Amino acid sequence: MTERKTIIETGWNLDNSYARLPKTFFTRQSPTPIPSPKLIILNYPLITSLGLNSQALQSNDGVAVLGGNKIPEGALPLAQAYAGHQFGHFTLLGDGRAVLLGEQITPLGERVDIQLKGSGKTPYSRGGDGRAALGPMLREYIISEAMNALGIATTRSLAVVTTGESVIRETEQSGAIMTRVAASHIRVGTFQYVSKWGTVEELRVLADYTLQRHFQDVDADENRYLFLLKEVIKRQAALIAKWQLVGFIHGVMNTDNMAISGETIDYGPCAFMDVYDKATVFSSIDVYGRYAYGNQPKIAGWNLARFAETLLPLLHVNQDHAVKLAQDAVSGFTELYHYNWLSGMRAKLGIFNEELQDESLIEDLLSMMQKYRGDYTNTFRALTFDKLEDNVMFGTKEFAHWHEMWQARLGRQQESKDSSYKLMKSCNPAIIPRNHRVEEALEAAVKQRDYSVMERLLDVLSRPYAHYPEQADYSTLPEPSTCPYRTYCGT
Ligand code: AMP
Ligand code: MG
Repeated sequence: MTERKTIIETGWNLDNSYARLPKTFFTRQSPTPIPSPKLIILNYPLITSLGLNSQALQSNDGVAVLGGNKIPEGALPLAQAYAGHQFGHFTLLGDGRAVLLGEQITPLGERVDIQLKGSGKTPYSRGGDGRAALGPMLREYIISEAMNALGIATTRSLAVVTTGESVIRETEQSGAIMTRVAASHIRVGTFQYVSKWGTVEELRVLADYTLQRHFQDVDADENRYLFLLKEVIKRQAALIAKWQLVGFIHGVMNTDNMAISGETIDYGPCAFMDVYDKATVFSSIDVYGRYAYGNQPKIAGWNLARFAETLLPLLHVNQDHAVKLAQDAVSGFTELYHYNWLSGMRAKLGIFNEELQDESLIEDLLSMMQKYRGDYTNTFRALTFDKLEDNVMFGTKEFAHWHEMWQARLGRQQESKDSSYKLMKSCNPAIIPRNHRVEEALEAAVKQRDYSVMERLLDVLSRPYAHYPEQADYSTLPEPSTCPYRTYCGT
């Protein structure tokens, strides 16, 4: 890929490798201008890592770029085409309310997409208004930044601006645009789109581009497309395990919402689980629990099977053989996921080495949490600090027995108990973005234009493993009256 360097005051250093791909992959599309862009929040640490200048970004010109009123030098805005299985049904999609400005080449030489979300209609809008509301954009900002701080691969949020226009949802709301930063926006759905409507040669171009962009260490003599499939599977196995380990529920794991890079993408009706329950669903539209907490690994496997199908023509000239290669690779997901999850769970319990019975020790704890309605995050934190309060579970004989087994297990490894507790501290977050706290911050922001609640929340969420007293306030559970919590799509 050739890199074009155009450095202006703000530090935009954009290249457009995606725009050089076959024209069927996208439509050139500028953002639709807005009446009055106003900066609501800016991500200072991210600005620096992108090589941008925060002062310039806050200037009228800078904010005009973030609002889509000014195209920065070097940008070639476009809307990406993609398809997707939405709740199992295959649909033609594409960026219906987003444009990719280009790829910022960072001071470290990394290439990241800069996308405006909520920037107006595109040929893929399908009757939608192309816009986004302030609440949902701030919600994506908060949760994606919290995920990043938790050490989970995710797209990032650079800024949110209001547009000066209203958007009509259930009610009239302030319009907003979020600037999203991603390793790329190539989705399982991008491959589905090209596989269905493109040629095999175009599919090869997309696969080669993806390898070049995300998986460069492919050996010259190996089947590069099988390598691609296996690497995507590996990254998803690691990602979904991390979601499960912190109790994150994506809410709409459609194939268009699964990024090939292995980053969490498209924060819609997502939320973090409070009380441990595998059946937890937050999304109002997920009536059958397809994307419930406990189903996420299975659904990831299903999505990866759809990805593998798109690669069949590239995997082998003999279709039967291609199918066999794909099936073998996809069936490896379950084991890879399980390995990641089990390693993560061991660490959450301070276990360094491996014993066969570890899984049943973990499952016993989770069953007790489910039975006694233990809060997922707080239970692990209580174990980490040996402060076994606040839950009936801790007072039961069942738990006392489990605790004894666990302590005995910690005794069967070389590392000291002290090292175990240190490990637990680094794996069990003090806080997660709890729904009622996120809602409280959004309400203050949207209704009163008071952003201080959100800023404080973002601050504590930025150090989830630091375990300091000010976080205590943020780890209390919601009032039962606010449960069950519901999140909404179509935002
Ligand atoms: P999402 O639910 O955000 O993953 O979006 C699913 C699809 O709907 C994508 O193709 C989006 O671009 C499109 N979409 C969502 N909201 C809008 C909107 N307000 N206007 C146009 N397209 C939209
Ligand atoms: Mg989406």
